[in-house]
Amino acid sequence: MPDDTKRPSEQRDDVVVPLKRSRSPDGGVEAPDAVVVGGGAIGLACAWRAARRGVRVRVLERDHPGAGASHVAAGMLAPVSEASWGEEALMRLALASAGAWPGFAAELAEDSQLEVGYEPCGALHVALDRDESEELRRRFELMGSLDLGVEWLRPRACRDLEPGLVPACAAGVHAPGEAAVDPGLLLPALTAAVERCGGQVLVEAEVTDILTDDGRLTGVITGDGREHRAEHVVLASGAWSGASPWLPPLARPPVRPVKGQILTLRGNPDQPVCRRIVASERVYLVPRPDGRLIVGATVEERGFDIQVTAGGVLELLREAYRALPDVSELELVETVAGLRPGTPDNAPLVGPGALDGLVLATGHYRNGILLTPISAEAVAALLAQDPLPPEAEVAHPGRFAGESAPGLVAAPTIEDARE
Ligand SMILES: Cc1cc2nc3c(=O)[nH]c(=O)nc-3n(C[C@H](O)[C@H](O)[C@H](O)COP(=O)(O)OP(=O)(O)OC[C@H]3O[C@@H](n4cnc5c(N)ncnc54)[C@H](O)[C@@H]3O)c2cc1C
Repeated sequence: MPDDTKRPSEQRDDVVVPLKRSRSPDGGVEAPDAVVVGGGAIGLACAWRAARRGVRVRVLERDHPGAGASHVAAGMLAPVSEASWGEEALMRLALASAGAWPGFAAELAEDSQLEVGYEPCGALHVALDRDESEELRRRFELMGSLDLGVEWLRPRACRDLEPGLVPACAAGVHAPGEAAVDPGLLLPALTAAVERCGGQVLVEAEVTDILTDDGRLTGVITGDGREHRAEHVVLASGAWSGASPWLPPLARPPVRPVKGQILTLRGNPDQPVCRRIVASERVYLVPRPDGRLIVGATVEERGFDIQVTAGGVLELLREAYRALPDVSELELVETVAGLRPGTPDNAPLVGPGALDGLVLATGHYRNGILLTPISAEAVAALLAQDPLPPEAEVAHPGRFAGESAPGLVAAPTIEDARE
């Protein structure tokens, strides 16, 4: 990319000063320690947190920051909604990340000097008929065993919290600790924070090939032929990670695209149809302070297709109306589809990849925004050779060592990872 595509970086006194900052005359970073492939929430956050630890970083984004799933996401930070049997380790990771969000958002606002859009709004999970009520009760018992700080509510108590709920609402679970963030604010803030901490974000910079030296990955090449040499290459290309033609087949992680359609409605911000996240078995509704209401999302195995379909919109609107009938009065302002990076066990891949020098930060499936703080911290620690957060063990790529990803090494223990 020509250098004039870079945004101006500025320094502020109250930003943590990177230890190894080295700036070229054009304001970029000379010889980065790490290049990050993909400028979604994950890639940008990894770069920002690494830059804060003194690592020189360069993000390579083939389009613009947030062009992938990250700008499509509803931005729910809702581990309780994801409580699922057999995924307790993943739940601990999600809870650790949810717990990190307030501090992460505050530091991001400080480093970027921008609004982040973090809203500790809470959530109400509702059952709209008897069958759903039984299912919600079973999940509530699981939530109780995981100590998720939730409360079972009878129909009247649900409607006291959210008066717009359909009168037939059968039961609810109140999760006051859940929150949301607006990706429309988060992505610009992350981009600015990377740059203000001394990193570089290159747009329209598609990675097309790798550089190797004696079997070790030593950098990547972008479509314009430019070489980006670095000690580490962080793969943060979301749903495209598993189909990266520029990586040798054995180094491609087991990540597949999972389509999600999502809608934006808009109403009067002074009379919102709900004040907290309302989630039923088939739909969730996330209010924004400006009167928008995000309605998501379908889950479809359709490869890289991102067409919005009449059936998808119909299903979302029908289920939204079933929970909160007043949605029928709102303006429909946007319909969009995105691709979640899915993995065989729904947990992300964060840690060493199948090539020496390759670090994976991908596979965040339905919870990439929720998992952004903990994933970024783990990658930044790895790049800075610091200890990893213990909860990150569930995300070690080595769990897929073997047939599905022959190049990945078996997971070391946390102690090994600290060496
Ligand atoms: C409809 C929907 C709703 C969602 N709601 C939520 C939610 O409420 N809460 C939540 O936590 N998560 C949610 N998610 C999931 C979340 O969006 C993802 O897990 C997360 O955005 C993944 O971030 P990422 O940075 O890994 O990927 P992406 O945001 O997809 O970023 C990957 C980037 O890599 C770039 N790229 C790809 N190949 C190359 C290349 N060769 N060279 C350079 N750049 C490349 C792409 O252009 C893209 O910008 C939702 C997802 C969808 C689809």
